[in-house]
Amino acid sequence: MRVISTVSEFQSALDQARLSKTVGLVPTMGYLHDGHASLIVRAHSENDFVAVTVFVNPLQFGVSEDFSTYPRDLDRDVELARQAGADVVFAPTINEMYPDYPEALPTKVSVSKLSEVLDGKSRPGHFDGVATVVAKLFAMAGRVSAYFGEKDFQQLAIINQMAADLSFPVKVIGCKTVRETDGLAASSRNVRLSEDDRQAALILYKALQLGKGLIESGENNSITVARAMESLIKCEARAELDYATCVDPKTLLVPDVIRNDVQLLVAAKFSNVRLIDNVKANFSEPNTRAGSGFQNNNVVKADSLRLERG
Ligand code: AMP
Repeated sequence: MRVISTVSEFQSALDQARLSKTVGLVPTMGYLHDGHASLIVRAHSENDFVAVTVFVNPLQFGVSEDFSTYPRDLDRDVELARQAGADVVFAPTINEMYPDYPEALPTKVSVSKLSEVLDGKSRPGHFDGVATVVAKLFAMAGRVSAYFGEKDFQQLAIINQMAADLSFPVKVIGCKTVRETDGLAASSRNVRLSEDDRQAALILYKALQLGKGLIESGENNSITVARAMESLIKCEARAELDYATCVDPKTLLVPDVIRNDVQLLVAAKFSNVRLIDNVKANFSEPNTRAGSGFQNNNVVKADSLRLERG
């Protein structure tokens, strides 16, 4: 496996590979964990050649955010990427990506609407930074399949929109969220949690499960679901809640009444470490729902059978 650091080497490595191979791309900010590994493994299973990029992108961090403390360890990343099936790791310096840095880049990619809600509201400019760096990586990479995690659900939606709108020859593929055994979503930021905060952070997944349970047992008021998730997170004193909400997975807007599958999303800080998570909640018509009249009839029948047998 090769480790390269210049844009021209990256472009020629991918051009060369594409002469005889399909190419998978896995963009990351490094400090790789099982979530990243799952993307690389999937890219490896679906392509002949896999490129992983490792770049902590300053454009997507706000001034008071954790750019300088974001965890970094390239040697470890290279080893993990190799084990997961990568053929090349592209790890550029900031000046290789942005020659005039810290001067602002005159060009930026901005995806309206989808970037204006949720994390876009809490982190102004964040998604412009994400869309800009991903557009640069797509422009360098050319025709590839690119793998992104559903863990960053809004980011995935924005990248899908951008790739379609700007006609990048890139197939964007969303991959399931990888979790620790207790439910916490794997994240590079988890290493910055104290033991107490690590425990407290479980409240995010618990809140998502609560919301999902409510919807899947018939609650169709999105505000009621959001309030229930918010209240649960607020019970955890170490959590500083940003949002807990229920949105349409395509528009990321809150539906008045839940009539289709929705995405539940949460964000909170634990001693300044900001975590996000999300799950899908399946909507089902009332008469097909577990616990609905139809199902209850079956239960009654089963009970009466048992009685008859008894
Ligand atoms: P990051 O390094 O945090 O920018 O993430 C790089 C890619 O890995 C993004 O597409 C993320 O959505 C994805 N990713 C991060 N955490 C997870 C996870 N727990 N499960 C699946 N994918 C993830």
